[in-house]
Amino acid sequence: MKKFLALLLCFVIFTPCICITSYAAPVTEYPFVFVHGLMGWGEYQGIDKVMPYWGTTSGNIPAYLERKGYDVYTACVGGNSSAWDRACELYAQLTGTRVDYGEAHSLEHGHSRFGRTYKEPLCETFGKTDKNGKPIKINLVGHSMGGVTIRLFASILQYGDKKEVQKSGKDVSPFFKGGKGNYIHSITTLSAPHNGALSADKDNDVIINLMVNTFYYMWGIIDNTPLRPIWDIQLEHVGLTDYPDDGFDGKFDTELIRKLLDSKDNAYYDLTVKGAAEANEKIKMLDNVYYFSYSTECVFEGPITGRYYPEPSMNPLFLLTSPKVCTYEAGEFMGIEIDESWRRNDGIVSTVSSAYPFGEPHKDFDENKIEKGVWNVMPLLESTDHTDFMGTFTDPIKIRKFYLEVCSMPCELK
Ligand SMILES: [Zn+2]
Repeated sequence: MKKFLALLLCFVIFTPCICITSYAAPVTEYPFVFVHGLMGWGEYQGIDKVMPYWGTTSGNIPAYLERKGYDVYTACVGGNSSAWDRACELYAQLTGTRVDYGEAHSLEHGHSRFGRTYKEPLCETFGKTDKNGKPIKINLVGHSMGGVTIRLFASILQYGDKKEVQKSGKDVSPFFKGGKGNYIHSITTLSAPHNGALSADKDNDVIINLMVNTFYYMWGIIDNTPLRPIWDIQLEHVGLTDYPDDGFDGKFDTELIRKLLDSKDNAYYDLTVKGAAEANEKIKMLDNVYYFSYSTECVFEGPITGRYYPEPSMNPLFLLTSPKVCTYEAGEFMGIEIDESWRRNDGIVSTVSSAYPFGEPHKDFDENKIEKGVWNVMPLLESTDHTDFMGTFTDPIKIRKFYLEVCSMPCELK
């Protein structure tokens, strides 16, 4: 009898909690737009059909989320392109328009102002209002460089860009006019190098330099063959490939690759600590948007040496980058002060860099007090490497549960 009463008591006490956490009715049902990281891809590309970026080996995560009732789209921006170029491409995809990189930006960096045309919007409701005249917002989720992309995208969407407005006048893209920040509900970043990545130091690291060059040469060649629809790094605006719909305008050219890599208009510059610091000076937060950040770590501290080492579960690819980050000498690097805290990393990105952009308001996540206009920093995900968010060699059940949390949280907020 005592056992029965104890069981009954447990049921009465715990049942409401279970109901609240598992079945909380969504307040909003805004769509989700996922933005990939460096060398990534989205639903427009052939490779995504056989190996989705979001769920490379664990099964298609957006498809799973769709089955759970969420409306999910996966954007496809330049794999090696700068955050600026990627933000412009994201706007064109969401609105179903031609990519406009801006007259001022394109003149400064020596590439075409316009990119490819998206005939249909990726997300039909973006920029629209409901029957009551309220904006139908979106939730943005960005992995790695995708996190930097969505922060810049949101900032331009709300505050516009004065240089572009001055340069183009009436002819300026609506993106650069600003005033549209009310179309974003939340921003969630996953292992985003908000303050740069020490591993992106291509000018002082032979292996990284070789990898970066290989990426450009390989895809520069592939994208000038019929294989392009499988994996397209979208570099027609720099002249490296043709425009998909407008005939042949570009060609593979080693000089163009060299020029691009020497410029500040590529992903690898934006990923440096200096590039990130420069970007952070321009990016502004939006007061009416919820910000969440997840950071990851996959190293352990040696009991005798006190040094950090990659955990055995880390993706072996990161053995090219993680050990160097683990042993980085503290001091000034590219004009930025780097201390010992940068050594802890997820294979590529230092944990301290992915927590939040330095100088922006932030606080530890508190489920009872989730605020707008402030980074709600989620608890650190330990023993998790940089590609675990892609579901690469990750437990499928664990990763699906994680993304359910990522999607359900903003939907429970007004
Ligand atoms: Zn550009």
